[in-house]
Amino acid sequence: MNPISNRRMVYSVAVISTILLAVISSVDAFAPSRIPSVSTHGRRSTGASTVTSSNLSLFRSLFAGRQTTEYDLVVIGAGVAGVQAALTAASVPYNNKNILLVDAPRASGMLMNEATGEDLSLGGPTGLFSKALRDVSKRIKVSTLRGMGLREDSVWNEIINNCVDLAQSNADDIVRQLEMAGVTYVQGFASFPDSGGTESILIKKDEDGSMETVKAKRVLIATGSQPFRPRGIPFDGRRIFDSDSINTISYLPKSMVITGSGIIAVEFAKIFRNLGADVTLIIRDLSPRNALMKIGLDKDVAATLVADLVRSGIKIERGAQVADFEVSTLSDRAPIKISLEAKGGGPLPRGHTTQIKADAYLAAVGRKPNTGNLNLAAAGIEIDDYGGILVDSRLRTTAPAGNVFAAGDVLGRPFLASTGAAQAKASISSMFATNDTQPVVECAEGDPACIVDGISQAGTSFDPASLASNPFAFPTGVWSSPEAAYYGLSTQQAKEMGIDAGEGIALYAECLRGRVFSPNGLLKLVYEKPAGRILGVHICGDDACELIHYGMELVKGRRTVLNLVDSLYSAVTYHEMYKIAAQAALDEAGARKRRAAAGAALAKRNRNNRAKESSM
Ligand SMILES: Cc1cc2nc3c(=O)[nH]c(=O)nc-3n(C[C@H](O)[C@H](O)[C@H](O)COP(=O)(O)OP(=O)(O)OC[C@H]3O[C@@H](n4cnc5c(N)ncnc54)[C@H](O)[C@@H]3O)c2cc1C
Repeated sequence: MNPISNRRMVYSVAVISTILLAVISSVDAFAPSRIPSVSTHGRRSTGASTVTSSNLSLFRSLFAGRQTTEYDLVVIGAGVAGVQAALTAASVPYNNKNILLVDAPRASGMLMNEATGEDLSLGGPTGLFSKALRDVSKRIKVSTLRGMGLREDSVWNEIINNCVDLAQSNADDIVRQLEMAGVTYVQGFASFPDSGGTESILIKKDEDGSMETVKAKRVLIATGSQPFRPRGIPFDGRRIFDSDSINTISYLPKSMVITGSGIIAVEFAKIFRNLGADVTLIIRDLSPRNALMKIGLDKDVAATLVADLVRSGIKIERGAQVADFEVSTLSDRAPIKISLEAKGGGPLPRGHTTQIKADAYLAAVGRKPNTGNLNLAAAGIEIDDYGGILVDSRLRTTAPAGNVFAAGDVLGRPFLASTGAAQAKASISSMFATNDTQPVVECAEGDPACIVDGISQAGTSFDPASLASNPFAFPTGVWSSPEAAYYGLSTQQAKEMGIDAGEGIALYAECLRGRVFSPNGLLKLVYEKPAGRILGVHICGDDACELIHYGMELVKGRRTVLNLVDSLYSAVTYHEMYKIAAQAALDEAGARKRRAAAGAALAKRNRNNRAKESSM
């Protein structure tokens, strides 16, 4: 918000407040026990509805002569998990809870609107910026803007303003939801007191650095994660970034070097390539396909993704790691020089690139839970070897009073927004449910892939250990472009479980929508022989992260390839690939011929496109 509209808001607040004060003083005795409110401490008093309710809260507190300092629940951290927990606790069947949500927006290098001081990542995943940038990189043609003679900083402003708009509308929506739910939101850094115990929380407020102590009947720790920073990399947040500080990049690099072969590295490689940068990916593995398989991708999906990275012009330096950086102290514009060495140290074999010059460098080599400075030891809360908070199957920490729970990235793997939100809901159910409702699993004896409501015998709760051991717990998406996603078992996993498994594959180029709009990619069904029950779905291509959910329901619904062959899908949709893959499972030889024909046609089309592009 600019200072003018800010002043206008303060003025209207004063007018509304005077009226409200009179009204409140006359009705307070009859008021419900909790009036919808948003923080009176925070900076996010934007928009008319916020003004009205936040100040309703303020003046009600002032009238009462004190601020609320005792809460049924204090949630620490307003990322995906914290916001989900606060909204769940405020809703049916847990309503009428007095909830405080404390967030230190800068604690993990989030997306800020520096002009207004607003936290644009509120309630969004730490990956919100990358999603916004990805979306913008698909819509904005940098080469066209440059071709129009736009200055570099104008091109970047066009991109970043679009990202800020996307993030802003998400943050505004979250504020509205918190406001409607009656959750009090404070910006500040929370920790447990030195004196021990978990019945009170210390908050160092962002506003003025002052300390406040609030009483908490229950506490949820949802402080998220931060990038793992290997030693020896001179991170400066200007040229050399990690997966959080990249949110603050203030220019469009023309060349970018990225270390990593995980989801985040691949995502940013495609984003900056789409934005016109020369991108080099440095991976320790000798095979990029194997590196992607290590993060769970099926071998054909991994191969399709690698083929796309290469086709789009991303260079991959294999079996390598960064040895040294040379950053000019004289000029901000001089490229950084990045020296490479063999994985584990020592010179690279002859013929390998040993030095790369680039405008920017990103290390995307993993994340670690945000547990520092919370004073967990004083509270009796234990962490594991990776810094993740230890919880039981009901997400309760080791705090002796039993009133502290944790959810989201702060627990460690799988470091996903979706699992964090599910853990947040489960933790609220754990802390406030009156009856002990563990899901009842009914499985045929010896059925290793038994699933009941998405939960297999391998795991029955949302604690990290169960999630990690349960391939049916959640779908995984890689937001590269094209996207990749999977759910359930791979063929290899199924075989390791003693299941006689087969595969049915459909190419995007085999369905009409794929042929016309986006022919590169595949969908694979993994099924159990001979019944044909579908055990897993693996996709790489346009909309894979959406398409996977239909596949997930097929697996959870115990559907068979025969069911799919008999289903009628509307044309022209990507869902037709499910039927084509099912047909392929029933007629492998015929399917191989069809795929070969479609593949040859696609290769010809790709060659023609490349020839057209190079002649322009
Ligand atoms: C680049 C990138 C891309 C990603 N893409 C995806 C994706 O496609 N799909 C997916 O599911 N997941 C994705 N993720 C992961 C996802 O963003 C995280 O799993 C999710 O944000 C975790 O939510 P959280 O609430 O646990 O933590 P966070 O979102 O990290 O929020 C924690 C909050 O707690 C605050 N905090 C920390 N310490 C304190 C303290 N002491 N007091 C008060 N507040 C504190 C932090 O400032 C932060 O606001 C991605 C992550 C990154 C980095």
